[in-house]
Amino acid sequence: MTSRATRVLVLNSGSSSLKYQLLDMRDNARLAAGLVERIGEETSRLVHTPRPDGGDADGGDADGGDADGGDADGSGKRERTGPIADHTEALEAVSAELARDGLGLDSPELAAIGHRVVHGGLKFTAPTVVDDAVLAEIERLVPVAPLHNPANLTGIRTAQRLRPDLPQVAVFDTAFHTTMPEHAARYAIDVATADAHRIRRYGFHGTSHAYVSRKTAELLGREPADVNVIVLHLGNGASASAVAGGRCVDTSMGLTPLEGLVMGTRSGDIDPAVTFHLKRVAGMSVDEIDELLNKKSGLVGLCGDNDMREIRRRVDAGDERARLAFDIYVHRLKKYIGAYTAVLGRVDAVVFTAGVGENAAPVREAAVAGLETLGLAVDAGLNAVRSDKPRIISPRDARVAVAVVPTDEELEIAQQTFALVDEGRTVIA
Ligand code: AMP
Repeated sequence: MTSRATRVLVLNSGSSSLKYQLLDMRDNARLAAGLVERIGEETSRLVHTPRPDGGDADGGDADGGDADGGDADGSGKRERTGPIADHTEALEAVSAELARDGLGLDSPELAAIGHRVVHGGLKFTAPTVVDDAVLAEIERLVPVAPLHNPANLTGIRTAQRLRPDLPQVAVFDTAFHTTMPEHAARYAIDVATADAHRIRRYGFHGTSHAYVSRKTAELLGREPADVNVIVLHLGNGASASAVAGGRCVDTSMGLTPLEGLVMGTRSGDIDPAVTFHLKRVAGMSVDEIDELLNKKSGLVGLCGDNDMREIRRRVDAGDERARLAFDIYVHRLKKYIGAYTAVLGRVDAVVFTAGVGENAAPVREAAVAGLETLGLAVDAGLNAVRSDKPRIISPRDARVAVAVVPTDEELEIAQQTFALVDEGRTVIA
């Protein structure tokens, strides 16, 4: 019997972590998902979940295994702790877990491995099958993504070693934003200096903005080409984008993910002179300023917490610092909604996504409060509903739809990967 290779493994490699999902592209089913964290430490941890969407795990934990966490919550989740030296060992451990479910990396049903790559510069406007030239270009972009691209490269090289015969596809966070016009992408600084150092606005979270804007069109029952959408991706990192007819025309992150909205630990927009001041007057080093703005600012800098659940709990308990942090967060969001309404001219939907956007009804309510003149409002009842489905939360007669659309970056990466490699290849089953 012959069948197509229809599985895609999605890898998201961080500096000391590796997240993965295995999907079957016939029905987008998630066959497995997991995370290896603290790679390179004594206390590395692998958490593996077969069939994370529910359903019967085929294969199952047949050998009884020695996983030292086990299936405590009945989800089939397996956990193991102990040193995992590097990404090669991490991927080998993942492969071993997948093999226990009959889904090993050596399976002929695996069609490709899709890698999240944070920075693709201007060159990569679409998902790309990795070869030596592609690896060299991702490497060349390390200076503009020093934290992310090296880890992404390690992930790709490791996967290549384990399955040299398989297409490895790079899916770039920046690709969706390469349609931004020059007047949105360029900073108003000396052109020669900017060009010499590739300083411009690239934007990030692109797979999420692409997926969510398309899903929003679907929710409205219209073609992506016919709708203008403002996407608010509010997770621990946060970014907004203006999407006109399916193409990104502006986004809030810039050369790096530091620009734009207030985030969990990042400041977002700030007068660049603050950095000179911190160096000249406060005597901080560039690395200290980098750390301050990326790790110790945003919500955590303002009130000590970056989890919106905790911040809301504190607000409800009358905590003034948490209240101010919340208000600053929401004020910035409103400014971007207003700005992108101006950029788009006509807005069909404002859509909330990611951890905060999907779950924090008070943020959604506060972000559009007072924007009735822009046609924006939320229905309190609809906004309060908890669901993992795309949904409209504006009143029935609203001029602009306000929506919540759960993002799914792994599915988007898998779909883009599969679209590139699936040429109807057949395997013997
Ligand atoms: P993400 O980066 O998309 O995984 O989002 C993570 C963030 O989502 C967390 O730091 C929380 O601030 C936020 N979050 C997750 N669940 C909730 C919730 N139920 N209510 C409010 N915020 C939430």
